[in-house]
Amino acid sequence: MNAPIERPAAAGAPAPLIDPFGRAISYVRVSVTDRCDFRCVYCMSEHMAFLPRRDLLTLEELDRLCSAFVARGTKRLRITGGEPLVRHDVMTLFRSLSRHLASGALEELTLTTNGSQLARFAQELADCGVRRVNVSLDTLDPARFRALTRTGDFARVMAGIDAALAAGLRVKLNAVALQGVNEDEFEPLVRFAHARGMDMTFIEVMPMGELEGPERLDQYLPMQAVRDRLAHAFTLVESDYRTGGPARYVTAAETGGRIGFITPLTHNFCESCNRVRVTCTGVLYMCLGQEDAADLRAPLRESLDDGPLHAAIAAAIARKPKGHDFIIDRTTQAPAVSRHMSMTGG
Ligand code: SAM
Ligand code: SF4
Repeated sequence: MNAPIERPAAAGAPAPLIDPFGRAISYVRVSVTDRCDFRCVYCMSEHMAFLPRRDLLTLEELDRLCSAFVARGTKRLRITGGEPLVRHDVMTLFRSLSRHLASGALEELTLTTNGSQLARFAQELADCGVRRVNVSLDTLDPARFRALTRTGDFARVMAGIDAALAAGLRVKLNAVALQGVNEDEFEPLVRFAHARGMDMTFIEVMPMGELEGPERLDQYLPMQAVRDRLAHAFTLVESDYRTGGPARYVTAAETGGRIGFITPLTHNFCESCNRVRVTCTGVLYMCLGQEDAADLRAPLRESLDDGPLHAAIAAAIARKPKGHDFIIDRTTQAPAVSRHMSMTGG
């Protein structure tokens, strides 16, 4: 006998998602592909084996999945990857998700991108109601950029950023702070961003995925070191600005622009965690730093009715852990989480 399909609490108004610690889940990051046109040294190995296409959720399935979260109180959706803009026909997804912006159910639809395809898509993204994009940029030096991304073309990313700004998108730049790699560029990156009205955020490198090449410990630079360095160049004024994400902001008095710091390792930002992540194969991670996960692809494919999907999401949120425990030290050389960042999209 088939198990009865659990339906949302009330048709049209399913129950909001609240985890066992009382945190409302209102922010979902969805990876639409594990593929990327770059191979950033801290993110991917040079020879990545990508998933067979049949394992990926189709664009229709991604739409159903995102819409199920929106129906249960998700206010902000971030599309990520891999590189989201290399997914074939990804604009179909943005176009269809924009109906939730139009209805008011969704407050923000956004994406994290390496910028390589932005020149092509910026205007269309803006037309779909996207207002903000995060562009990852670790260096302003074209040769260093090529070395860090292994395949990236700096000029193309610059053209992408220009196109995004020209389309009226608010752009935030994200740089991973890498010891011995871009430490001399924190100030130039801030000046570059602020001169164009962009926020600049620095991220600590996280111990995710086995990589060949530089050891994590050698790359790791605590955010305090980034802050100290910037404090020599700028007067940093504390700010209570928040985007709903984990960044903490200061304002540089000299430029009036914002600088964000994301410190997954040195500061626990778990107490206020309102987010979950879904991979491009439909695996829901309730915490970036824990292995526990729930498969949403099976319930998606089991029925065209969203009942099983809603039941699986609710069961997973009921297991969302209190927090994570990333450690990089000399005794813990292994990554805390074996998956790469490109699976869950950061
Ligand atoms: N390809 C897009 C991009 O680069 O923006 C989206 C996906 S990428 C995985 C999202 C973010 O994760 C990027 O800002 C990237 O720098 C960051 N990232 C990747 N691996 C990381 C790691 N091991 N530690 C910290 N940040 C990482
Ligand atoms: Fe690609 Fe983004 Fe990972 Fe770089 S950080 S390899 S651009 S997914």
